[in-house]
Amino acid sequence: MTSPLETAHPFAATGLPASFILRGTAGEGLLRLVAVDSSAVVEEARLRHQLSKTATAALGRSLSAALLLAVVLGKKPDSRVTLRIQGDGPLGWIVAEGSADGRVRGYVREPGADLPIRASDGKLDVGGLVGNEGELALTRLLDNGDPYTGSVPLVSGEIAEDVAAYLAASEQIASAVLLGVYEEGGRVARSGGLLVQVMPGASEDALAQVEANIRAMGTITDNLRQHTLLEVMERAAEGLHLQVAAQAQSARFQCRCSREKAKSSLLYFGSSERQEMMDDGGQEVVCHWCNEHYQITPGEIAALDQDQPRAQA
Ligand SMILES: [Zn+2]
Repeated sequence: MTSPLETAHPFAATGLPASFILRGTAGEGLLRLVAVDSSAVVEEARLRHQLSKTATAALGRSLSAALLLAVVLGKKPDSRVTLRIQGDGPLGWIVAEGSADGRVRGYVREPGADLPIRASDGKLDVGGLVGNEGELALTRLLDNGDPYTGSVPLVSGEIAEDVAAYLAASEQIASAVLLGVYEEGGRVARSGGLLVQVMPGASEDALAQVEANIRAMGTITDNLRQHTLLEVMERAAEGLHLQVAAQAQSARFQCRCSREKAKSSLLYFGSSERQEMMDDGGQEVVCHWCNEHYQITPGEIAALDQDQPRAQA
């Protein structure tokens, strides 16, 4: 069977500039800003998973959030976080894994699920698709290498408020989180997000100023359409002496699967089942994170038995 993805390759050619992350501080260093332009990342996710319009917005916001959270919570350059959003809407769950070095991957339970534009505000009904009853959970590694998972009930299923609620309740971090995906002509035109973290000791004036700035900005989606990412940060930190780190961090949709791992997954089957796969002309293994389809040949399956005779599960 030919994978639908083969015709969509290469994903680098989304026609969008490479995604990137900017970091900065403001308000005497007590406001920390992290912003991401995830347009190319989210367009690649849309193509890979054949996401509906609203599912693109839901996973896109989640991929942006995973990158922002990895930067904010990560202690090391390659620190990873895994975000799981389980709502009661038609989308099922969302999983997104981000790394502070800019790698991100993710998927949803029902990529084709969609809803009409919301009548109340004319926007994509992400909250309706995700559902507002459920849970947001985040797993990250602590300094000692042990995994830690915190979770909060969903606030709205719109993702940004849910992430802010998680940071407040589970990480004791006061923050403002803005996430948006703008689609045009059936493709992702702009996607991104901004996280403003309030450090302990930030002044009341600085807080009031940043809150007023964010209220005055309008939606993040409109801001991303009309401004560069740096300008979006400057608008959020207006009057607060924003200082942006000189180095932007590149970001990309990058899975950790491989042909080797796909082959090894067949060792979980018994040898008679593997014989059947060989007799059928090979076996397709699909990575749920990135929807890559690996066609494992009978020769490769036979070699597995020779290489790892004791590895049968
Ligand atoms: Zn993969």
